[in-house]
Amino acid sequence: MKSPLFNVNQTWLECIKCNNRADLLKERGFFCQKCGNLFDVCHDFSRIGNSSFLKKTFSNRMSDFSCNNENWQQSGVWRYRELIMPHLPEQDIVSLAEGNVPIVKAGRNLSHWVGTNNLWLILEGMTPTGSFKDFGGTVLISIAKAAGINAVVCASTGDTSAMAAAYAASAGMKCAVILPAGKITPVQLAQPLVHGAKVILVPGPFDDCMKIVLELVEKYGAYPANSLNPARIEGHQATAFQIAHFFNWEMPNWIVVPVGNGSNCSSVGKGIRTMKETGILPHSSHCRILGCQSEAACPLALSFRSGIYEWEQYYMPKLVGETDATAARIGDPVSAKKVMREIFLSNGLMEIAAERDLRQAVSVCGQDGIFVCPQTGIALAGVRNAVQCETISEDETIVVVSTATGLKFTDSAARNLQNNIINLDDCRASSVAKVLQL
Ligand SMILES: [Zn+2]
Repeated sequence: MKSPLFNVNQTWLECIKCNNRADLLKERGFFCQKCGNLFDVCHDFSRIGNSSFLKKTFSNRMSDFSCNNENWQQSGVWRYRELIMPHLPEQDIVSLAEGNVPIVKAGRNLSHWVGTNNLWLILEGMTPTGSFKDFGGTVLISIAKAAGINAVVCASTGDTSAMAAAYAASAGMKCAVILPAGKITPVQLAQPLVHGAKVILVPGPFDDCMKIVLELVEKYGAYPANSLNPARIEGHQATAFQIAHFFNWEMPNWIVVPVGNGSNCSSVGKGIRTMKETGILPHSSHCRILGCQSEAACPLALSFRSGIYEWEQYYMPKLVGETDATAARIGDPVSAKKVMREIFLSNGLMEIAAERDLRQAVSVCGQDGIFVCPQTGIALAGVRNAVQCETISEDETIVVVSTATGLKFTDSAARNLQNNIINLDDCRASSVAKVLQL
């Protein structure tokens, strides 16, 4: 049953191309009926309060740590509720107290490797299902609940399926996930199974899984948990809100994101624009987005090279190659147009990360005590390229979005460092002492 309290006149869907409007709670397909483009979620922000009230509210929520609170009141996403989904009634919120992630200064090894001392990482792997997807998942499943949905479906390279399964389980909904066989890690396969989702493996890359979901949505009325459902993007904006909050409501010069299906890039850009629209940031505030792709899956970075104005003309879905960064192994990103819109609006750039470099980035981060996923490696290798060719200068502040924990990607990490393992032929302390030169 649809939520009786959610006023759909205050929150609506709007086509990114022709401005055609649709009802957020009634929509199932999430492509504009008139022109086939994606939707944005739009809100009436007129009664959410002024910027100083909002900033105070957000900070108060951080210090209000109490057993009297609901999950959402501890969430690093719903902390910014007035900017994310201001008109959604509390009882529709499905939250696992996600999104309270640290923003850490890069250690000495990573700083040296990238070539700057002004580098920070927002560690979005430190959230319930171990990836940034929880930021959007809590909002998507809350909207699904408000819309009276009882089952969701998604295609995934591993992280979306973990998120969709966990949040659907929490809300008491059914969930089916469609995954590329052999191209997700064992942890990512275990996650939806543990959360009771129907796990379907198909013999093709993610792009085939996505085509199946689009057909299930269009012909069979399935409700998608992928980022074509723009409710996801609303939650992912919390990345930009947390970064702004952390830097005392000033933006860094650059936010760097890996680009797979495009939800991160789309939402960071929208988050910056939302903060300007609501007076949280001045309109003069300037923060550029650097979107990074691996050389195995770089359709958008390639079309960007032909020029930001002409990218669509030169855009070609790419057959994906092999990479450790399997979660961004996507040749035809569903949010392509939103990604390029945000790159354009932020005067941003795109970089391509070599496989060797993204692997090295994971090892270098590890030497500073932080285990990041290979997709974070894409962003780190990309920002290193930009610093080396002086596109980004040494005095500029950079925040890299670390999208998932390396604990989901132990196989590739261990494989790349297996030469560092010492195998002994016996179990004697004296043999170990010899190796350690004691
Ligand atoms: Zn349209």
